[in-house]
Amino acid sequence: MQIHLNGFHEGDPDVYEPAEGYEEPRKEQPSEVDVLIIGTGPAGLTLAAQLAAHPDITTRIVERKPGPMKKGQADGISCRSMEMFQAFGIGEKIMREAYWVNETNFWNPDPKKPSKIHRTGRIQDVEDGLSEMPHVILNQARVHDLYLEIMANSPTRLEPEYSCKFTGLTVAEGDEDYPVTVTLKHDGSRNETVRARYVVGCDGAGSAVRGSIGRELRGDRSGQAWGVMDVLAVTDFPDYRMKSLIKSENEGSIIFIPREGGHLVRIYIEMDALAEDQKVSIKDVGLQKLVDATNRVLYPYSIDVKEAPWWSIYEVGHSVTDKFDDVPAEKSDTKLPRVFIAGDACHTHSAKAGQGMNVSMGDTFNLGWKLIAVLQGRSAPELLHSYSAERQQVAVDLVEFDHEWSRIIAAPPEAGTALEGTPVFQRYFIEHGRFTAGLSVKYQPSNLTGAPDWQHLATGFEIGTRFHSAPVIRLADAKPMQLGHTLEADGRWRVYAFAGAGDPTSQQVGIGALCAFLDTSPTSPLRKFTPEGVDPDAVIDVRAVFHTYHRDLNVSAMPGLLLPKKGKLKLTDYEKMYCVDRRTSDIYSMRGIDRDRGCIVIVRPDQHVANILPLDAHEELSAFFSGFLLPV
Ligand code: FAD
Repeated sequence: MQIHLNGFHEGDPDVYEPAEGYEEPRKEQPSEVDVLIIGTGPAGLTLAAQLAAHPDITTRIVERKPGPMKKGQADGISCRSMEMFQAFGIGEKIMREAYWVNETNFWNPDPKKPSKIHRTGRIQDVEDGLSEMPHVILNQARVHDLYLEIMANSPTRLEPEYSCKFTGLTVAEGDEDYPVTVTLKHDGSRNETVRARYVVGCDGAGSAVRGSIGRELRGDRSGQAWGVMDVLAVTDFPDYRMKSLIKSENEGSIIFIPREGGHLVRIYIEMDALAEDQKVSIKDVGLQKLVDATNRVLYPYSIDVKEAPWWSIYEVGHSVTDKFDDVPAEKSDTKLPRVFIAGDACHTHSAKAGQGMNVSMGDTFNLGWKLIAVLQGRSAPELLHSYSAERQQVAVDLVEFDHEWSRIIAAPPEAGTALEGTPVFQRYFIEHGRFTAGLSVKYQPSNLTGAPDWQHLATGFEIGTRFHSAPVIRLADAKPMQLGHTLEADGRWRVYAFAGAGDPTSQQVGIGALCAFLDTSPTSPLRKFTPEGVDPDAVIDVRAVFHTYHRDLNVSAMPGLLLPKKGKLKLTDYEKMYCVDRRTSDIYSMRGIDRDRGCIVIVRPDQHVANILPLDAHEELSAFFSGFLLPV
């Protein structure tokens, strides 16, 4: 991380100086805001944590519950979400605290005595090389805590307002500054009216914001019910500390998910695992019935539950709203979105694929940088149409996957599979590893995502998918690191220039020529889109990667653009240049980068690859940014 840019910073580098004008105790909340977020689940907090870094954007976040979540709900964190957490600066903390899902085990009826279960498979959970980050399990409440910490330490010191319920909204037609009028109820009694430029409904599956813009969840809303319990227990089941998918002969299925800390385990129990008389009303199902059902599935093993800090009956259907904003499809050309919905408010699915928290955070990671760009005047508000266009398709894919996965898990075990081959649920799990890791999301070509014309210059950075990190050595201090970890959740665009053949210090060709263009040409996107008075990398952050051995490159011979002067003191930023790490398979080989021609890889603020261009495609680079950035 970079600190001391504007002078020596004492103490914890994660705690930012409060913004000018911030007062403790906090002044009354403003009645006119840029963004009003409803709900402090993973979707709302992912958005709030991004906006909190910007004192020029007025944000409020309200929550009807009296305080932060303490336990329960989701716990699966995909590799993709871990990559995003790394960008928020909390990846290492989560890795330390969480359970790592390294292997997944499969249990089925033993063909010799089908009333008993036996292990039929044991597989690596995440394929090698899929991501530098692990698949982990951590209570949703802890994820919330870490986001709340980011917000509290940010320049705006943003805090949620609890016991504050959204009760309705209206959107004025026309060009009003604050077109959305929202009514809130504090502490069950005091009403407040807030005017907002944008409202984001992150208010969960029963979303009132969704209702207020006339959208509805469509699909199979009845769903299946699963019991879920977090337990501290003693057992002779040998895979207590392994994620296990277990199917019994006649007693249904359970999923075992070890949790953080070495002792806690989450168990999902298919409600069919309950005896017939217990299924009459799931509301009557108590903890003991879930424990009994678990013991029936686990036979010949058993589990003695000592404590169950949280349990619930979780029933959801598979449904998606047709759009994630308030603009009817037929009015997309004439009307701008003002109200958005995200997370469970626009898609519901089972907990079995562990996607609830992940996809919800993915929604607002996509929306956050777009709202920031529009509110800071860097992009036209039309950019905001792309949120629904990109994320609705992700939700449709998720719901389809989850439908099939739920069906496979609930289906009776296939006769004789343990002897004759890999059971269907094990095969399906393996085949969809990329999906459950959150890595199959691919945004379609648009003004934000280029066509694959130059994909062959870097085949491993697939346009539209998330930037797949790889190891490099930072030139100035020889630090081995992940290139992807230079992508921070700060709303900036990144341009990675990969050197081709030839002298890496030449000013006439390759990276030298690109830097000269970016530095001096009137059509340079840096000159066109970076406002006066801010750091040169504030909007577009240019970095370079060389396939030269780092000890053979002289930092001071490199272009000035890659050693920019920044901050109040105009200090040099030495962290823009990287070389291949010779000790590992190098980034050029790992990501299929053309060593002779090199290339430019443009990466969006949400870490997705936006485009790939030849190193000398200077005007095309400029034209690409002109597609969505406004000249200063
Ligand atoms: P949520 O996390 O639902 O957050 C919405 C927030 O909005 C809530 O805090 C809510 O209080 C607040 N809110 C709602 N209405 C208003 C209003 N009118 N005004 C102000 N605030 C409002 N997933 C799993 O993977 N495994 C599980 O076992 C599991 N169990 C769950 C159990 C329950 C009871 C619930 C509700 C969800 C569970 N989930 C589980 C789903 C998972 O938690 C969600 O997919 C994930 O939290 C979605 O995040 P979100 O931010 O979209 O919505």
